[in-house]
Amino acid sequence: MFGLRVYVPERSSSTPVADFTCRCGEKRRARGGSEIAALTAHAGAHRETCAAIEPRPCEHCGVATRLLSNGQNGYPAHRECREAWETRKPEIRRREKAAERIKKIEKQWYKSRMLREQLTRDGYAPDVIDALISGGALPDPEAEVEEDE
Ligand SMILES: [Zn+2]
Ligand SMILES: [Zn+2]
Repeated sequence: MFGLRVYVPERSSSTPVADFTCRCGEKRRARGGSEIAALTAHAGAHRETCAAIEPRPCEHCGVATRLLSNGQNGYPAHRECREAWETRKPEIRRREKAAERIKKIEKQWYKSRMLREQLTRDGYAPDVIDALISGGALPDPEAEVEEDE
C-alpha cells in the first residue's frame, strides 16, 4: 500500500505514528504530532516531483499533474484548480436547483394536461375543466414550486 498512513492510538496516552511509502521505494516514519505534520508536508511535496508517479490529466484543466485533489488520495487535480472549483460550487448548486425546479413545473404541466385530456374525453365542458384544474383538483402549474431546502 502506497501513500501516507497515520496510526492514531486507542489510548490517548500513547504517541501517534505515521508511515509514508512511495512507489519509488522511499519510506519514512514519523512519531508524534510535529513529526507527522512534517512527514505530511514532505509526502505532498514528494508527490509533485517523484519520477515513479505517472502524471495524469487534471480533472479540471486537463494539464498533466501528479497532484491529487485531496493530498495523498482523490482524483488528479492541481491545488489551484481544485480551489477554484470549490468556490464555484455554490453557483453550480444554484443552477442545478433551478433545473430541478423547471423539471417539477414541467411535470405539473404534464399532469394538468393529462387530466385535461381525460376530462375532455369524459365529456366535461372546457370551463368546468378549468374550474376543476385551477380549483385545487390539481396544483396550479404556475404556482411557485416549493424549495426542498
Ligand atoms: Zn516517490
Ligand atoms: Zn488543473
